[in-house]
Amino acid sequence: MTEQLFSKDCYLKEFDATVVAANGKDVELDRTAFYPNSGGQPDDTGLISFGNEDYIVGSVRKDKGRIIHYVDREGLKEGDSVHGQVDWVRRYLHMRYHTASHVLSGVVYRETGAEITGNQISAEKTRIDFDLENFDREKLKEYEEKANSVLSGNHPVVIRFITREEAAKIPNVTKLAMGLPEAVKEVRIVSVEGFEQEACGGTHLANTSEAGKIEIIGAENKGKNNRRIYFRLKLA
Ligand SMILES: [Zn+2]
Repeated sequence: MTEQLFSKDCYLKEFDATVVAANGKDVELDRTAFYPNSGGQPDDTGLISFGNEDYIVGSVRKDKGRIIHYVDREGLKEGDSVHGQVDWVRRYLHMRYHTASHVLSGVVYRETGAEITGNQISAEKTRIDFDLENFDREKLKEYEEKANSVLSGNHPVVIRFITREEAAKIPNVTKLAMGLPEAVKEVRIVSVEGFEQEACGGTHLANTSEAGKIEIIGAENKGKNNRRIYFRLKLA
């Protein structure tokens, strides 16, 4: 198991680690701040340095409990003490999108009772899918405004680890908590304080105000009981 430094400290940009396995360009470290592509949040990119040698991290993936960094060339080997640097511009944008998507889905949940069935963050077009039969398109502007008022409301975003029994008591987390394999003892909860909380493994802002404002740029029917909303962060 790779120690997931990003899980407890989303703002960690640099770290020291040891290579535990290197297979061609696939590198596994004992600990990492690089977020792997998962849960609708794209992976981080950046650099892993060993002495004066820099290796470019092009992609990061999860493989069971391990996190694999794919670098631009071979050369790293087991036991190397390395320094990692996350491309912060890219990652921070994903954090803004991820926290904003929790707020928008929280607004839609409050307004319609619809739960999320999927999401994909991207700097160009972020989408959230809802388990909803009908979409009232006239309401979209209202959802956008409500989400923006929550975002500008300076809500702290807090990450905590709780037992699955505790998680089962949180309304929109119940189903997920009940469905977890027995081996999972802990659930990571991301809480937009005073607004909503959900189970999530992603990286988040410390405060909603850092997200700025969002704009809903489209909505689509994706089959029965599946409604999709596209949004983007507004510039400035
Ligand atoms: Zn999330």
